[in-house]
Amino acid sequence: MPLAYDLHSHSTASDGALTPTALVWRAAHAGLAVLALTDHDTVAGVAEAQRAAAGLPITLVPGVEISVTWGGRTVHIVGLNLDPDCATLRAGLDGLLAERAGRAEEISARLARAGIPDALAGARAHCAGAQLGRTHFARFLVARGLGRDLRDVFKHYLAEGRPGHVAGDWATLPQALDWIRAAGGLAVIAHPARYRFTRTKLRRLIGEFRDGGGIGIEVVSGSHNRDDVHAMAALARETRLLASAGSDYHGPDTPWIELGRLGQLPDACRAIWTWPAFPRAPLDSIRDGISPPLAVPAFAC
Ligand code: AMP
Ligand code: MN
Ligand code: MN
Ligand code: MN
Repeated sequence: MPLAYDLHSHSTASDGALTPTALVWRAAHAGLAVLALTDHDTVAGVAEAQRAAAGLPITLVPGVEISVTWGGRTVHIVGLNLDPDCATLRAGLDGLLAERAGRAEEISARLARAGIPDALAGARAHCAGAQLGRTHFARFLVARGLGRDLRDVFKHYLAEGRPGHVAGDWATLPQALDWIRAAGGLAVIAHPARYRFTRTKLRRLIGEFRDGGGIGIEVVSGSHNRDDVHAMAALARETRLLASAGSDYHGPDTPWIELGRLGQLPDACRAIWTWPAFPRAPLDSIRDGISPPLAVPAFAC
């Protein structure tokens, strides 16, 4: 049975292809009971998503995916079940949106030097929200016929080492964790296997993340293969982090997994939705109401 939870997704408020309303409808139709909206560096889509969920058999978890510069690389920290109106969070995210605007101009200038003019206007035409990301440039490049699909144009133009790549100078890890904590949320390391860090570097990231109050990592992710899932489950257990699961869905046009297709967490994991007051799928709530959650193993967190 697919997982009823999906705690990582994007809408047109960042680089997703679906509006918050369309995303929530699709998620409900796919049978999800709990969906987190985690747009890049913004909570602008959360209110609309919550309104859409109000009339459907699905619970919307307000969230965000914060861009962080750590160890010379970009890593993503997801904040879940947070207050989207928190002033500290909003002020922090505003700074990242300003960084995104400046980076978009730089990406456009570099693409122009590589013989592709007008990329800024082109990317804007593919952007419904207030913030520009690489995916908007990718959609423009595909529309210009410069590649087959998003993956193809990322590989040739936007990935590290390619002509349109600009690293971005994002939040520090402690900043991102402080903003999430201020908003009452739970911090989770997004798609940890995707960074291709050495074990040592990943453990160092986890150490600093835990020191700053982080409590979870994505074990099941749209960008994890079966081996990644088992490796991250073992790491979560060893480092006593809660396990999260998210598709990282961006819409039907992207290479990501479809909504409602995530596999279950490995048994050894303690799921983040067992955290007090975290929204639960109805079947979990019923089961927990009838008897104690016997399935949760002894786990000293
Ligand atoms: P940004 O935060 O603007 O640097 O953009 C990061 C986003 O680019 C990710 O969240 C994905 O949506 C997208 N992305 C990164 N790498 C790829 C890829 N190889 N293929 C398709 N999309 C990608
Ligand atoms: Mn994205
Ligand atoms: Mn990400
Ligand atoms: Mn994401």
